[in-house]
Amino acid sequence: MIVIENAAIVDGALDHPLPGMHVAIEGGRVREVSDRPIRLEGAARLDLRGGTLMPGLVDCHVHVIATLVNVGANALLPDALVAHRAAAIMRGMLHRGFTTVRDLGGATLGLRLAWEEGLFDGPRLVLCGKALSQTGGHGDFRGRHDARPFDFFERRLGSLGRVADGVDAVRRAAREELQAGADYIKVMANGGVASPTDPIAYLQYSEEELRAAVEEARMAQTYVAAHLYTDEAIARALRCGVRSLEHCNLITPETARAAAAAGAMACPTLVTYQALKEEGAALGLPPESVAKVDDVRLAGLRSLEVMRAAGLPMAFGTDLLGGMHRRQSEEFRIRAEVLPAHEVIRSATLDAARLLRMEGRIGCLAPGAHADLIVVAGDPLRDIAVLEHGVTHVMQGGAWKKQPN
Ligand code: ZN
Ligand code: ZN
Repeated sequence: MIVIENAAIVDGALDHPLPGMHVAIEGGRVREVSDRPIRLEGAARLDLRGGTLMPGLVDCHVHVIATLVNVGANALLPDALVAHRAAAIMRGMLHRGFTTVRDLGGATLGLRLAWEEGLFDGPRLVLCGKALSQTGGHGDFRGRHDARPFDFFERRLGSLGRVADGVDAVRRAAREELQAGADYIKVMANGGVASPTDPIAYLQYSEEELRAAVEEARMAQTYVAAHLYTDEAIARALRCGVRSLEHCNLITPETARAAAAAGAMACPTLVTYQALKEEGAALGLPPESVAKVDDVRLAGLRSLEVMRAAGLPMAFGTDLLGGMHRRQSEEFRIRAEVLPAHEVIRSATLDAARLLRMEGRIGCLAPGAHADLIVVAGDPLRDIAVLEHGVTHVMQGGAWKKQPN
């Protein structure tokens, strides 16, 4: 039992901190949140003296097995090496304050089982298994002269995706991922930066294939997330019932309004384009990918304004690869260039929980929620950059995972 006293709570719901709050933790959950001191016999106490307390942060777009920026090379690494590196990447995320992450391709149930056994510290992991891609799509990292069958890669832990062509194959792949423990299904529905043979404008998967994936997900009581940049790709994914719209850099107001009306959510990932621009080539991003970065990077901030004006909710995502993971929290500062700070924070708390269908369990400080919380030195509503360097404490499931020395 732990009681945290005299905290100023910031959770993104309000544009100002809620001062003088007290939070009791018991059995890994939040037991009570009050504006009066909480008596709890035998509880350890932490007096924050006005310091900022937040729910643990949620990153809704990561790839924990992306240990190299070159995703094709990553897929050839031995599984044991990828697993240990993924554990280190996840530990870094937790120490930055991310107590839950959604993996958008690559992570398998085995990683979560190892985390549950306490073999390493990391965020709670929501996963899709391998992302589904058509031949030559964003999940296919074979170059033009690489004629190896994709089976060569797809069972490897370091592969972000798998290839499935045609309605029957898409259904089978979706079913296999769900059987293997996927929480939702990811499809690649548009060209991408990190893949070698598909320009950004390419549409990927026929509408029949997209609808098949959506139907399989719905049958399993879950949803489809799709990798998308162009307005046309987003509009057709919406028509097919996709709920989680990843990236969305080139979305128009009309499509953003349609997405909001359909109850979809967007998950922008702007920091990855900034990181790829600044250090991609040095970290091994192939030249054909370097050439595509600005096709999406330059439209990033504008897309946030378009989606906000349309009332399309946005969750926090980063999509970093390899040595760029350290820049995860920079996403807050980038978004705050055009969005109010509390809305940016809400994207990583309340809105993220909504996208992950985990409202009331994560992303909030409320009775019954997981006791996932962070302490920040400063007020992130005034200076959002404190989330980059000022996370002093991290608690997950009621246990301290990071504390000042
Ligand atoms: Zn993507
Ligand atoms: Zn991604």
